[in-house]
Amino acid sequence: MRKKYRVLMVSPEVVPFAKTGGLADVCGALPHALGGLGHDVRVLMPLYREVDAKAHQLRRSAALKDVPIRVGDKEIRVDFRIGRLPESKVKVYFAEQPALYDRDGLYVDPETGQDFPDNALRFVTLPRAALALCERLDWIPDIIHCHDWQTALIPLMTKSDEYRTSFARTRTILTIHNLGYQGNFPPETIELLENHRHLLQPMGPLEYFGDLSFLKAGVVFADKLNTVSPTYAREIQASEEYGYGFQDILQERSEDLVGILNGLDVNVWNPETDPDIAVNYNRDSLDKKVENKKALCERVGFSYDKSVPLFGIISRLASQKGFDLLSEIRDSLVALPIQLVLLGTGEEQYETLLREMAARSPRKFHAVIGFNNKLAHRIEAGVDCFLMPSRYEPCGLNQMMSMRYGTIPLVRATGGLADTVIDIDDDPQRGNGFAFSQYDADVFLETIKRALKTYANRSRWRDMQVRGMSQDFSWAASAKKYVELYEQALQK
Ligand code: ADP
Repeated sequence: MRKKYRVLMVSPEVVPFAKTGGLADVCGALPHALGGLGHDVRVLMPLYREVDAKAHQLRRSAALKDVPIRVGDKEIRVDFRIGRLPESKVKVYFAEQPALYDRDGLYVDPETGQDFPDNALRFVTLPRAALALCERLDWIPDIIHCHDWQTALIPLMTKSDEYRTSFARTRTILTIHNLGYQGNFPPETIELLENHRHLLQPMGPLEYFGDLSFLKAGVVFADKLNTVSPTYAREIQASEEYGYGFQDILQERSEDLVGILNGLDVNVWNPETDPDIAVNYNRDSLDKKVENKKALCERVGFSYDKSVPLFGIISRLASQKGFDLLSEIRDSLVALPIQLVLLGTGEEQYETLLREMAARSPRKFHAVIGFNNKLAHRIEAGVDCFLMPSRYEPCGLNQMMSMRYGTIPLVRATGGLADTVIDIDDDPQRGNGFAFSQYDADVFLETIKRALKTYANRSRWRDMQVRGMSQDFSWAASAKKYVELYEQALQK
């Protein structure tokens, strides 16, 4: 029988407690899948204001109160509250430190649109809190699984004099969900990491173009690294374009770096049982999907027309997601027989762009600026085709959610999109969507036109829908790959 591991998963966001992107979906679902394989998995995240402590019945514990944590020359006291992932036994600890986490917004101040000025302090404290929690619980994990720059100092800390003894047998994994976010801070930040001052020398493990990089520390010190798709794992080592300056140090670690595709929470993203959509359906009752299209059209003020395909976008509004391509083709799009519903929030320039597109052509474009989980479900169920023209995409979840809902993804073939979407014209037998390679507005437009053509061929479209709905997007396969990665780390 396989060994069962103790795993502490440390993440800055976890569904259903707090979310800005796909990282939260992963950290809400993967622990559950690992628990299902018999491992003792626990999760730690900050107690942000957004976390609804009452609704999730978080409890306090006298044993986990006032835990002292050293950050630079300061002592910070943290309480830990305890909850569970819904419908599972997985314990979730919440680091409660009101001065650091009890405010509106996760990383960005909603008032100014800028990163919080004390983000370095907030995410030096979280890794320290993780180690202090394990010691306090006298529960030393085999694996500490870190996610993104906000937790990337843990591998350095477990090897430091302060923690080396307690964590001598613990191995660390760093999952990079998006290399575009690196946690780079001015060099003075080293004051928060007093005992690691020497690592900030030029070319040292913490130094990145004169700054102090949290993510770099993780890349250098984690026992194993992964990204969230095989293609993205290759892309970030291959060029500056995807590697954002990290390509060389990632290449140096290429033996320890793999790509593991994310799964979906297939219970939450299930058109058969989804409580948020107008009419439930599955691949045998696909005809009912159209009721969701009608309901969505009604909600956004479009007239429903069977022959007009309804496109959807749900996205962080960031340049990564290809909104410059959308901007370039917007006039040509209006001329096509299509409708488009957008849901997103993020950079102001794109919010303005989308508002303008919607104001100019209210019967063709509709934009909802904001974060709305229920509407995201309704869009996945209601639209015919989902657009993801990403410049880069570490994994991407929406193309998989789309396929579960019989919605055809139209994507740029990069990262996880390249690993999951097969173009119907390239491979008519296995095709489950549309994909284009060159990051170019004309190519994007041509691909939309190809989709229109295929949409007119009902049986071909339906075959694609059924193919997508028949795929296994569950975490089962990927969770096993993570266990293999843990095993390799423990053998080091
Ligand atoms: P990323 O992590 O880069 O944002 P992913 O495709 O991996 O992209 O995951 C994005 C997740 O966030 C998906 O679950 C998507 O539905 C959701 N999402 C993004 N923007 C919104 C929004 N405005 N409202 C609701 N859900 C959103």
